[in-house]
Amino acid sequence: RAKSHQRSSYSYFTVDMGVEIRERVRMMHALRAAFENERLFVVYQPQIDMRTERAVGAEALLRWKTEDGQFVPPDQFIPIAEYSGLIVDIGEWVLRSACFELVDLHKAGFTDFKMAINVSQAQFSHPLFLQSLERALLDTQAPAQCVELEITESMAMTDPELLIRTLHHIKRLGAQVSIDDFGTGFSSLSHLQKLNVDKLKIDRAFVNEIGDKSGDGSIAKMIVQLSQSLNIKVIAEGVETEQQADTLMSYGCHLAQGYLYARPLTKEDLRVWLAKK
Ligand code: C2E
Ligand code: MG
Ligand code: MG
Ligand code: MG
Repeated sequence: RAKSHQRSSYSYFTVDMGVEIRERVRMMHALRAAFENERLFVVYQPQIDMRTERAVGAEALLRWKTEDGQFVPPDQFIPIAEYSGLIVDIGEWVLRSACFELVDLHKAGFTDFKMAINVSQAQFSHPLFLQSLERALLDTQAPAQCVELEITESMAMTDPELLIRTLHHIKRLGAQVSIDDFGTGFSSLSHLQKLNVDKLKIDRAFVNEIGDKSGDGSIAKMIVQLSQSLNIKVIAEGVETEQQADTLMSYGCHLAQGYLYARPLTKEDLRVWLAKK
């Protein structure tokens, strides 16, 4: 019985795979067309100092609205952009758009505002990445110390040599680096110390455990303590409740991003939101 069950699930698997590949190719063409026809846009989620509840910056997040008005979630299209290489051009465009917005916000009086921008592995390891970063900073006149690149923990492991070299150059340009979704990628602690990053972002999953019956926030607490002993900043992602905010503050984490404070906003809505604060 086990055998026949195995065989049937195997044949389902291959059928699904065929559909999946066709679907991925379809999505890749649609994504390229959307990019070329300027149907991608960037939204900005405020990052908050929980003690004052004021915004200290924002994270730029990519959005894709199809012609029939549907939103495709980034978790679906970013992997396709990465897989197809499209992420290199799209990522550069996000970087430049976010830098332009940063400069506009500074001009509007939010002078210390920081802008966090996600960078994929494929972008980061591209030979022209540093040039495109330098050019983006020059062209937009964005102050590098207000630009924060978010890399993921898994990137910290694939090619440590390249990573260390690239981080070194980013530092020379004056930009900041943070590790996104921290705690999900099993990177070694000694490696983390060598990387010399500026900030850890506690993954939403660990923030979620605070106040949850199944968990108690012990991992979030550990990440805060780790950041303190490495003397780097820490921010919590996905803060949704007052209880989570209070608990994180009691751990010594003061920066947060989450629906409790604000959802990702269009640049127009971000202005309105900031003006109300
Ligand atoms: P991320 O960089 O970890 O971004 C945080 C995600 O958490 C965002 O999802 C944000 O909308 C969501 N979030 C923020 N606060 C809350 C909350 O309180 N509750 C819940 N449930 N979710 C919250 P989003 O915008 O769907 O993006 C998903 C992922 O897609 C990002 O995760 C990032 O890995 C990737 N991504 C988005 N934009 C870009 C981009 O421009 N370039 C690259 N390379 N990746 C991107
Ligand atoms: Mg991020
Ligand atoms: Mg994250
Ligand atoms: Mg993520």
